[in-house]
Amino acid sequence: MIPFNKPHLTGKEAHYMYQAVYNGKLSGNGEFTKRCQQFFEQRYGFHKCLLTTSGTDALEMCAMLCGLQPGDEVIVPSYTFVSTALAFLHEGAKVVFADSMKRNPNLDAETLEALITPSTKVIVTVHYAGVACDMDAIMDIAEKHNLLVVEDAAQAIDSYYKHKPLGAIGHLAAFSFHETKNITAGGEGGLLVVNDERFVRRAEIIWEKGTNRAEFFRGAVNKYGWVDMGSSFLPAEINAAFLCAQLENLDDIQQKRKLLWQTYYELLKPLAEKGCFRLPDIPQYATNNAHMFYLVCNSLDERTELIKYLKDNGVLAVFHYLSLHSSQYYKDKHDGRELPECDRYQDTLVRLPMYYDLTTDEVRQICQLIATNFCS
Ligand SMILES: *Cc1c(COP(=O)(O)O)cnc(C)c1O
Repeated sequence: MIPFNKPHLTGKEAHYMYQAVYNGKLSGNGEFTKRCQQFFEQRYGFHKCLLTTSGTDALEMCAMLCGLQPGDEVIVPSYTFVSTALAFLHEGAKVVFADSMKRNPNLDAETLEALITPSTKVIVTVHYAGVACDMDAIMDIAEKHNLLVVEDAAQAIDSYYKHKPLGAIGHLAAFSFHETKNITAGGEGGLLVVNDERFVRRAEIIWEKGTNRAEFFRGAVNKYGWVDMGSSFLPAEINAAFLCAQLENLDDIQQKRKLLWQTYYELLKPLAEKGCFRLPDIPQYATNNAHMFYLVCNSLDERTELIKYLKDNGVLAVFHYLSLHSSQYYKDKHDGRELPECDRYQDTLVRLPMYYDLTTDEVRQICQLIATNFCS
């Protein structure tokens, strides 16, 4: 069976975790945490980075930093993971769901402005499959209406919008290092990026359970205490150590994933040209970080048939999000607008196996299977 995903070990993870344990400092914000944070700040020019225990946690920190009041509205795409919306619901905000684009699952900047009301405070962009949303258009709208922009960059490590790294454009951003992402912190992990200096001090306080402990350790204050809201967001050093090993091999990981992605693309292109399905769309302004290889089928029935056919032949392909606006939890809170593009991706998008240890021969095999039986 070719699985859908398989976590990759670069070789140094266990060594660094051993070091973390024998350093004698197991809790968060030690040497390995600092090394990871510096890596991101230096490589991508992110203003301030804080490791978190998950992407969900990083999103919750973003939501807390937005300073929302009951009744405030936050615009979130409906075609995303629940955490994108959940983080803002925790803060008592009302989530207003936005539709995807026709060309790809990202937030449609053209229909975005119509969703803005005097209560809107935040726009959340999700860079689906690591492919950038149209950030110039979104940042312009945000500036015009004085809104904050949070990038859910969970899937978007090492990807760019017009030469700017994703995660460096919005006021705040969140990355995930869950084992299904390009790099992992040993199963679970995340990163908060603060690009707007106004939020840096409070971000550190929220990160440290509402205390000014970080300032105390820097010597900026002579005792520390409870000064704000917060929670337990720091990962343990062994997770940071695992992530360190992955970061040292980021270029190799990315190169291999892009090779696999390109192999899929070239081999499936003739079928897409025949109209069997659509291939992933990468706009001119965006790069591809090979987080995911997906197809958009012509109908739900065709997708069901494809998934079953691949499974019967030893390949695990999987569909993705169910529209959040019509979920069991949210449908009664949604304002009733139809989001047809989102629903279309819910029914027709399928993801093919994509992980570092997949071989180009296996990709060829998968494409051959699709070519001979699904669309001949
Ligand atoms: C993975 C993911 C998350 C959640 O990240 P975790 O680290 O699993 O908490 C949030 N948003 C998107 C778009 C994701 O892909």
